[in-house]
Amino acid sequence: MQPLQLDGSEGEGGGQILRTALALSMITGRPFRIERIRARRSKPGLLRQHLTAVQAAAAISGAVVQGAQPGSQTLEFAPGTIRGGDYRFAIGTAGSCTLVLQTVLPALWFADAPASVVVTGGTHNPAAPPADFLIRAWVPILRGMGVDMEVELQRHGFVPAGGGCVRATVRPCHALQPLELTERGALLGCTATAVVAGVAGEVARRELDAVASRLPQAQQQIRQLPANEGPGNVLMLELRHERCSELFTSFGARGLPAENVAARLLKEQHAYARSNAAVGEHLADQLVIPLALAGRGRFTAALLSSHLATNIEVVRRFLDVDMRTRAGERCVIVEAG
Ligand code: ATP
Repeated sequence: MQPLQLDGSEGEGGGQILRTALALSMITGRPFRIERIRARRSKPGLLRQHLTAVQAAAAISGAVVQGAQPGSQTLEFAPGTIRGGDYRFAIGTAGSCTLVLQTVLPALWFADAPASVVVTGGTHNPAAPPADFLIRAWVPILRGMGVDMEVELQRHGFVPAGGGCVRATVRPCHALQPLELTERGALLGCTATAVVAGVAGEVARRELDAVASRLPQAQQQIRQLPANEGPGNVLMLELRHERCSELFTSFGARGLPAENVAARLLKEQHAYARSNAAVGEHLADQLVIPLALAGRGRFTAALLSSHLATNIEVVRRFLDVDMRTRAGERCVIVEAG
């Protein structure tokens, strides 16, 4: 079969183009060649996280791969058959475990046997979904579409130390049910969680106090981890609605006051609260693959991000699915079929 030709500099121009291509190549059996990988990033080409995603996809689908070296900006990938089984992948840096998982899990939904996948590396990275986001927001929506899968955070891993571990288990299904997620429904509860590892508990307290000053109804939780799992500090806000949950994240950093960490989180929450959408910016681009695989359905998103638009373009290259976006009332509607 002729390989699809992809240009990694298009749209968002980041690692997601490669990950989506790997996922859909495995599922469709269509080989691809990608050039200018991550051309719009300051360090273009394959970093450890992307390389691990390629190696994981190759292991799971018995693929023939060329160009899988650190820094490579061109890759050829020709998949074989997707096989269930027990897999373990080590990123070796604090690169995101969840992004590696999101590359291979869609393929394993349709494998010949159940699978477990353990990935070690970073579990809470800026610019990637934290493990809690997969567990609280992404997986429940997929379960509603017929995916039989669990994700478990076994050990936290922060930048730069890494050393975290996430495990996923999947039992295959034949097809996904359409996604209908146009409203979030009533708010059932919200929880603010401050995680600290090798960072004073006082920091977590101040972050939660700052959240409480704007969201007094939020339940509060401090997760104090062993110092050797850090240093690291992340503040998360989970909003549980009738139809779906969202999880917003903000990272602490040396020299950044705890109140500013909370202010960043509240800004994201505020943007979501102002919109009429079911899902926020990040969940939106991560629902594109499942929606496309289901073939029909719709969801509403708070905004049309460049990640969302680019992911839809990559999906259109692999799948014969009519996927489009249009403006709704204080939201964007993403539709397929
Ligand atoms: P690079 O762009 O450097 O290659 P990358 O490989 O991390 O980095 P991106 O293409 O930027 O890839 O994709 C990042 C993914 O992480 C997107 O799906 C984005 O929605 C998601 N993401 C980023 N921040 C968050 C967050 N706070 N919560 C949930 N998901 C997030």
